[in-house]
Amino acid sequence: MPKIDEDLVSNLEALLGQVHVSVAGSVLHQHSRDQSSHPATKPDVVVWPANTEEVSAVARYAFERRVPLVGWGAGSSLEGNPIPVMGGIVVNFQRMNQIVTVYDADFQVTVQPGIFYKDMNRLLAQHGLFFAPDPGANASIGGMIANNAAGTRTLRYGATRDNVLGLEVVLADGQVIRTGSRSIKQSAGYDLTHLFVGSEGTLGLVTEATLRLAPIPQHVSAALVAFGTVDDAADAVYGIIGSGVVPAAVELLDSNCIRYINSDGTFSLPETPHLLMEFHGVSTTAIAAELALVEAITLECGGRSFTAGIGREERNRLWEGRHHLFESMLRSHPGETYFITDVAVPISAYPTLVAYAGRLAREQGFRGGLFGHAGDGNLHTTFFCPTDDVERTQSLTNFNHQVVHQAIELGGTCTGEHGVGIGKQQFLVTEHGIASVELMRRIKQLLDPRAILNPGKVVGSG
Ligand SMILES: Cc1cc2nc3c(=O)[nH]c(=O)nc-3n(C[C@H](O)[C@H](O)[C@H](O)COP(=O)(O)OP(=O)(O)OC[C@H]3O[C@@H](n4cnc5c(N)ncnc54)[C@H](O)[C@@H]3O)c2cc1C
Repeated sequence: MPKIDEDLVSNLEALLGQVHVSVAGSVLHQHSRDQSSHPATKPDVVVWPANTEEVSAVARYAFERRVPLVGWGAGSSLEGNPIPVMGGIVVNFQRMNQIVTVYDADFQVTVQPGIFYKDMNRLLAQHGLFFAPDPGANASIGGMIANNAAGTRTLRYGATRDNVLGLEVVLADGQVIRTGSRSIKQSAGYDLTHLFVGSEGTLGLVTEATLRLAPIPQHVSAALVAFGTVDDAADAVYGIIGSGVVPAAVELLDSNCIRYINSDGTFSLPETPHLLMEFHGVSTTAIAAELALVEAITLECGGRSFTAGIGREERNRLWEGRHHLFESMLRSHPGETYFITDVAVPISAYPTLVAYAGRLAREQGFRGGLFGHAGDGNLHTTFFCPTDDVERTQSLTNFNHQVVHQAIELGGTCTGEHGVGIGKQQFLVTEHGIASVELMRRIKQLLDPRAILNPGKVVGSG
């Protein structure tokens, strides 16, 4: 990669205006790391374009001079995805944060990529609609599309990929293309939309997206079930999904996570593994019938107590602890480094995966917890160690690798929702085979011949 020109900043200022280009130390620092523990690297410059034309002009400039170009949403990734590992230009989409059109009658919306999904959902609530994928952090829609983010409600509504109908994308050389359509059925040619979804900004920059929405459910409820062991809780997940009931969410929390939740003082839950579930329905009667069935299944699988909260307020209360879990963990381990896993397996293999990860963590006395979007076979673990503890850092890295290999052996994946970023590149060949990864590299070369788009990510820099 050639050295950055001395006149880089003045050229970008000429394109976007002086106030929308920055090399201030604090700004570069802010754009040097995400929420993971991957090492920070500063970009050379950060820009805030106002529209597609400006993104295209910046891309043309970067292409001509072979300068790295990295998209930035909220910086909430957990695998180093937006870290500009080769410096260059970070394109922050914060100014492109508008809803373009709400298509009420079709349950769709077209938005700019910089809008944060919680802000978007607040605006969409006036239309009785919402975008269902919900990563815990307040991510941008561009970042969610780039990482194919998912979350607690994927079980019922799908991941981001399942809810993107079409895109506007700026390619590496600045060319602007449109993919997909507003039809929910599409079979016209290669599926370019879903090639860009999950590509982590390595194939193009998303400047507009048309999303599929869902009506806000009329009736909601939540249920919290305590178990004696985490294995019993994982077995119950398999039982619930096998029964044909489709909860909106099924979250697994081990006893350590419950301790973190209790540490905030709002809850005093029994410190044993729990399942937290959510149900959406057209009537309270329909929801009550689902709850009765799920109660019977969970009690049969070793559930010790079943607390159901019908209604939005009670549901929100039960979910509050889950939503603040990560912050509670961070508060309990100030200044420490954390390691997060994100693997997913077919639902029948979930109890095996959970038992395996739990046993390994117990044997090594790791501090942290095990939780996951259990309904779709997604398991996370978050463990902490002092930043300068080289030995513990190595054991946690080994643990992550063992869990990933176990997930792949069980027919699963090295990443259910956080993406490849930096940390998961080493597992791509094991998961997909060398021929498939070579094909991915050829696609990357075709779309990004000068290797300027988020270089060093997904399939490396080639
Ligand atoms: C507490 C916490 C909980 C989380 N829970 C979940 C969860 O449940 N599920 C989940 O999936 N994730 C979760 N995450 C991870 C994170 O929120 C998601 O990965 C999210 O999609 C990142 O969005 P962002 O806007 O922060 O993107 P960024 O981190 O800024 O960027 C993500 C990637 O997108 C690229 N990019 C950004 N904008 C564009 C664009 N317009 N065009 C092309 N590429 C672009 C970047 O270059 C980068 O590769 C969590 C994170 C935290 C901190």
